[in-house]
Amino acid sequence: MPDFLQLGIREEVNHTLKSLGIVTPTPIQERTIPSVLEGKDVIAKAQTGTGKTLAFVLPILEKIDVQNSDVQALILTPTRELAQQISKEIKRMVENVEGIQTLAVYGGQDVAHQLKKLKGATHIVVATPGRLLDHIRRESIDLSTVRMLVLDEADQMLHMGFLPEVDEIIHETFSSRQTMLFSATMPKEIRSLAKKYMVEPEFIEVKAKRV
Ligand code: ADP
Ligand code: MG
Repeated sequence: MPDFLQLGIREEVNHTLKSLGIVTPTPIQERTIPSVLEGKDVIAKAQTGTGKTLAFVLPILEKIDVQNSDVQALILTPTRELAQQISKEIKRMVENVEGIQTLAVYGGQDVAHQLKKLKGATHIVVATPGRLLDHIRRESIDLSTVRMLVLDEADQMLHMGFLPEVDEIIHETFSSRQTMLFSATMPKEIRSLAKKYMVEPEFIEVKAKRV
């Protein structure tokens, strides 16, 4: 079984993973990380608790250019709890990495505070669709430089009625971006979203049990 280094994750991040007791990639991580590093569009289906967050966070970190202060990656997720959790996970992973800046954007937060933070360098934005659209409409965020887009827990976003917002947000991103979709289930609305916005996506399905 490969470890994270063999999958293409840098030493500093591998070290952090190890210190957290994360040594062996889960099946979804093992299959997704190399494809994302290659720049492929990916649809990953695996049940809750199989490690989908690190499956996209780790390769994205490898692809951020810290010399550039633009927003390069956008992660859309259905709830504020998930947005907080993912941004916390990213911050943990970059503990030993110089310069990668992450910002969480979600409802119930002080907008002025969010806006102030958005003025500095931000490489990765983790957001819920509603609040992000507010920022787009106020022109307080520019997503035209987003070349990596993640739709996390896509089925939950669908069930919460976020697809129109997601659709609008995708149009704000760079047109030849890399798109990744993660979901526990694949209802037809999700499949058609993928068809509309992805280019020859690789479909990765893992039926393994939880970590
Ligand atoms: P999902 O999004 O698929 O529901 P998460 O990404 O939230 O799952 O991961 C569930 C839990 O598993 C988290 O606590 C995470 O830290 C842990 N985890 C992720 N990858 C690994 C791994 N390779 N080894 C051990 N634990 C892991
Ligand atoms: Mg998840």
